[in-house]
Amino acid sequence: MLYIDGEWQGSSSGRSFETINPATGEAIGDVAGGTQHDAAVAIESAVTAFKGWSRLTSFQRSECLHRAYTLMIERKEALAVLMTEEQGKPLRAARNEVQYAADFFLWYAEEAKRVYGDILPAPRADQRFLVLHQPVGVVGAITPWNYPVSMVTRKVAPALAAGCTIVVKPAEQTPLCAIEVFNVLHDAGIPAGVANLITTDNPAPVGEEFVTNSKVSKITFTGSTEVGTMLAAKAASNMKRLSLELGGHAPFIVFPDADPEYAAKGASLVKFLNTGQACISPNRIYVHKSISGAFLTVLEQRVSRLRAGNGLDEQTTIGPLVDAAAVAKVDRQVTDAVAKGARLRTGGRRLVEDGLDRGFFYAPTVLSGVTSDMDVYHNETFGPVAPVIEFDDEDDVLAMANQSHYGLAAYVYTQNLGRAMRMFEGLDYGIIGINDINPTAAAAPFGGMKHSGIGREGGREGIHEYLETKLGGFSI
Ligand code: ADP
Repeated sequence: MLYIDGEWQGSSSGRSFETINPATGEAIGDVAGGTQHDAAVAIESAVTAFKGWSRLTSFQRSECLHRAYTLMIERKEALAVLMTEEQGKPLRAARNEVQYAADFFLWYAEEAKRVYGDILPAPRADQRFLVLHQPVGVVGAITPWNYPVSMVTRKVAPALAAGCTIVVKPAEQTPLCAIEVFNVLHDAGIPAGVANLITTDNPAPVGEEFVTNSKVSKITFTGSTEVGTMLAAKAASNMKRLSLELGGHAPFIVFPDADPEYAAKGASLVKFLNTGQACISPNRIYVHKSISGAFLTVLEQRVSRLRAGNGLDEQTTIGPLVDAAAVAKVDRQVTDAVAKGARLRTGGRRLVEDGLDRGFFYAPTVLSGVTSDMDVYHNETFGPVAPVIEFDDEDDVLAMANQSHYGLAAYVYTQNLGRAMRMFEGLDYGIIGINDINPTAAAAPFGGMKHSGIGREGGREGIHEYLETKLGGFSI
């Protein structure tokens, strides 16, 4: 369904499309296939609503977001079950994501009231300088399928807190989750037109409307570097504001002074989270050669114990991949690595037994002896493969870790304070976990350097992505 101007409605074309449960291959819903025209209508409604919404006090906007937070928490279990069915992650992980998603409503309900201006010293005695922050206007948001609830709230909450209105186009794989987020917004009493939803299985025309419609002031996108770059190029000709959260290729570095078992436990947890389908998933695990044996033994043990299956089964610890193409890509990378000399320690095949062949399952995989001539070393995997590389020297490993055009997340295990600080300062990445595998929260700025994107989401910074800075020079 589309949600435009406060009303649920079908597509102007009458088209709809099915969404699939990736664990079973079964259709679980039929959703409106929105068009470029629908997007234009939604933008118009956001333009109209902007006048009223941006003039509300921040206390009033904050109240709406508080209500959305409370409702989302009340609906946590139902939303988590839907997410597991539509996206595949195990129920426990889905519950965590709903909490993370709701946290953005809570955090930005508060941040709405913390948009302060400034009075600056002026060079002339008769002059006064004032700085004011104002909402940028109408926002076009495009979100991915891997975190189908929190990636919507991470954009909607700060936009609404800032006083902007928004049109969201969720990923075609997970529209049902986005619809439930919009049910929360509707029931929280967000005024008509302030937040609009265009579901579609044909994203290009809707994206085209976002980047070419002169009434859209800002594009916020989370997805592949390829699509993000294309949208940014088109948006540039209209000088639209941009926030981009793109791909990653995270290094995970284990120094000889770290506890190899503890580091292996961390690697097994963060690498296989969401079946490796996260832009902050470790993709190159560098382990010092003096402890690589101990590290690999524990990693292999833990990974081979992971239980793949339908996420609704509480025994399941790892869910399916998103689709058949994702399974094929992972398999290609593993086959290429093994052909070039990597050692397959566990996994390395599509899972087909016990009915898993109906879904898109790949065995959790550990590769050792990975080298820089392998595809897995350079290209984002987005799947359950842990490639391990040995290293010898701190400067070398830092150089290797930085040798990527991505710059989103990096992880470091060390007990040496000086080394931890050198890595924190030296790694060209926007998010660094030091002995920490989950350096993300609604209160923290999330985002990347280099080809991983522009701007930050979450934290104090997140709301400023939706604000303009205005200077007033007064002569008195
Ligand atoms: P992924 O490979 O993770 O699916 P994509 O970048 O293809 O990454 O998808 C992320 C989001 O971008 C989704 O909402 C998808 O529908 C959207 N998208 C894909 N292609 C286009 C396009 N040409 N224009 C606008 N949005 C697009």
